[in-house]
Amino acid sequence: MFLALSGINTRLFQLAFFISLLISFSCDRPTHQIHMESFIADTHNDILLRAMEGEDILSNHPDSQSDLEKLKLGGVDLQVFSVWVSPYEFQDSEYFQAAEKMISKLEFLCSRVPDKWSIIKTYQDINYNQRRDIMSCMIGVEGGHVLGNDINKVKYLYDRGMRYLGLTWNNSNDLASSARDEFENLSTLANVGLTEFGREVVNECNRLGIMIDVSHAGEKTFWDVIDITKKPIIASHSSVYSLCPHYRNLKDDQLHAIGKNGGVVFVNFYPGYIDSTYLKKAELINYNYEYERKLLAEKFDSTSNAYWYAESKLLKYEKSKIVPSINDVIKHIKYISDLIGVDHVGIGSDYDGVEIMPLGLEDVTKLPFLTKKLLDNGFTIREVRKILGENFKRIFKEVCI
Ligand SMILES: [Zn+2]
Repeated sequence: MFLALSGINTRLFQLAFFISLLISFSCDRPTHQIHMESFIADTHNDILLRAMEGEDILSNHPDSQSDLEKLKLGGVDLQVFSVWVSPYEFQDSEYFQAAEKMISKLEFLCSRVPDKWSIIKTYQDINYNQRRDIMSCMIGVEGGHVLGNDINKVKYLYDRGMRYLGLTWNNSNDLASSARDEFENLSTLANVGLTEFGREVVNECNRLGIMIDVSHAGEKTFWDVIDITKKPIIASHSSVYSLCPHYRNLKDDQLHAIGKNGGVVFVNFYPGYIDSTYLKKAELINYNYEYERKLLAEKFDSTSNAYWYAESKLLKYEKSKIVPSINDVIKHIKYISDLIGVDHVGIGSDYDGVEIMPLGLEDVTKLPFLTKKLLDNGFTIREVRKILGENFKRIFKEVCI
């Protein structure tokens, strides 16, 4: 009975929240205009994985958090497409080829809609596309494991368009130790922090003009990078540890270091990195649906993306009742802005890389609400524009030219 009542309450709350958003938003056309006229850059999106599964992301996709049409409605001018090669799905020897295939897929998609999407390599490319209302597609590689231990692969990926490199994903590799491993497996790690090869890669990225991304990097790795980098760094999709203690988030001393380095933290919207209560609640839902999940695991390989998409769809309704709201995302943005300045914060949503998003930011079409909420929270139009994309442009110009 209690559960049933709390379910009704949650739904009522969600309904009230939506109505309030709708009323406030529909009364406020200038806000929408401010949003659409701003340059908007999102530094992390995993939709390319769906394309690799054979799904059409150039048409309206019923299950995705983003696709060509949704990105347009969200006003996105520059989208970083994450090139992530699953270490569960591929063997070490296949990583690089799998990354190449993902880049080829993005090139193919852009060739299908040349007046809508175009891969960028320079600052001039970004401005050219902006003037022509073409969405800039940037390649960000998530996880240095794709390099193996071959330094020449950095230049190869740079030539194909990689403009940021995440040193690690959750797995440690030949470059560095990851945040997950430093948190969960510290005593068994062969190396903690940057390796010699990792240092070589950081120098090569600095030389070529590739942003170093420390989202997913361990704390020791982070401080090693801060020590040697000659260029500003980014965290492409991380949030604030003080507000949500998770190893994927950044502690205050790390935020201060990024501010001092001239870098930018692009806030991740994922409920598990925004609200410290979410993951425990989500675990309970997973447990309650163990039987259905087992059936899915029999149908798909449980380490595959196909399984993950099916599981996310199955649990979406239940998890929509426990997610935080857009207001919690604003808290993270505001925290970083207050601590190290508004020049050092942006958005790195993680759309289509996570199973569900906060209330009010369910998919990329909801981004105009973020602009409204930022304005409601006292940010000026100029500050909002910095957060939405101008800070990205600034760091891209500084590092990637
Ligand atoms: Zn990630």
